[in-house]
Amino acid sequence: MRYRLMRYPGGKPKALTLSYDDGIRADLKLCEILKKYGLKCTFNINSGSLTLPSMINPNRLTVDEIKEHIVGAGHEIAVHGRRHLAPGIASAPVAIKDVLDCRTELEEIFGTVVRGMAYPDTGITKIHYPNSFASIRSYLSELGIVYSRTLSADNNSFMLPEDFLAWVPTAHHNNPNLMKWADEFIEADGYHKIITRRYPRLFYLWGHSYEFDNNDNWDVIERFAEKMSGRSDIWYATNIEIYEYVEAYGRLVTSADGSRIYNPTVTEVFMHIDGKEYSVKPGETLVL
Ligand SMILES: [Zn+2]
Repeated sequence: MRYRLMRYPGGKPKALTLSYDDGIRADLKLCEILKKYGLKCTFNINSGSLTLPSMINPNRLTVDEIKEHIVGAGHEIAVHGRRHLAPGIASAPVAIKDVLDCRTELEEIFGTVVRGMAYPDTGITKIHYPNSFASIRSYLSELGIVYSRTLSADNNSFMLPEDFLAWVPTAHHNNPNLMKWADEFIEADGYHKIITRRYPRLFYLWGHSYEFDNNDNWDVIERFAEKMSGRSDIWYATNIEIYEYVEAYGRLVTSADGSRIYNPTVTEVFMHIDGKEYSVKPGETLVL
């Protein structure tokens, strides 16, 4: 064996995920667009907007709206800090409480397990002494957060993150290259004759739905969703679905020469080995 490359569920070479913040009323319109085009999104919620009198206001989604239009539609809810505090700036005890309170409140209110996060505010882009990314990364892991989205490094590599706790998206929806990069993503050949170019690609879009109202540009997301929708080589997934699948792939147990691959997980895992497509079902061993 020379190269083994991960494929997404069903053997698909590409995945698309979205991440929208703050649980604002405009998310309802975004949900309608996602439904129309069959896309999946992670909605990052400040639990304080559901539990703290000082943060509750008519601009924020209610518990019932989140249940019906987000959780009920197969989207993910994730931590965005109970009070929206930037871990790079807030002191560790304050930031830890903000993350843990948000996680426990969302889990209690919605009866789910919440392990995802998007860094609020400036997140980890501005780290004030004595905070450090190493420390933030360590306490988030201890709090059971498995991935967290950062910002400000848009790029068209379409690579999965090296570190899920510093997950850099492809683009904010206001990026002037958005449609160009969407075309590049669609045109990328998942079956290229050079095997190393068949790596799993991810397009990760993020933003705030209220920006579409503020900039009067709902057509941006409508055109993006339409362009990306209904493609047989794209897996439409939430952030946590991508994390969990990649994690399952990472848990495959392989002989030193790569010829025997055991899948100890409960997920069927797909891969591409030296030009051929394979999958390993839960509990099974693939012998090449
Ligand atoms: Zn936010």
